[in-house]
Amino acid sequence: MRGTSLCTQTDNITSARMARIRQAGTHAELAVRAALRCLGLSYRLNVRSLPGSPDLANKRRGFAVFVQGCFWHQHTACARATIPKRNTEFWTAKFEVNRKRDARAIRELRQAGYRVIVVWECQAPRSAALLVRLRRLLWIA
Ligand SMILES: [Zn+2]
Repeated sequence: MRGTSLCTQTDNITSARMARIRQAGTHAELAVRAALRCLGLSYRLNVRSLPGSPDLANKRRGFAVFVQGCFWHQHTACARATIPKRNTEFWTAKFEVNRKRDARAIRELRQAGYRVIVVWECQAPRSAALLVRLRRLLWIA
């Protein structure tokens, strides 16, 4: 593999990016939590007993929500879904693993009868749109 040697500068940049994205992810998750509460829906966090450990889920109501970081989960056509210029092969492989894992978890949940919602971190700040979308997807009148 080419360009896999450790580069301190790259690591620093990547760490900063990761920290920023983790922050954004938390923010996005809070927005989803607020939206679900607004709809009167209870949920549990990080439900490890379900495929892919959904960030939020309610087994009785049969829904699962993944709040995906645009960078880590490579949101299609999103400006945040950049691929680092250093160690490109490493990152491409890593993202591919993430995407496959996501797709499999969603497939398994749907097969088990769950309604699955993926909320991207870049969408979450638009809370009104998020509410409409959650309401529609969860079939709440
Ligand atoms: Zn995005």
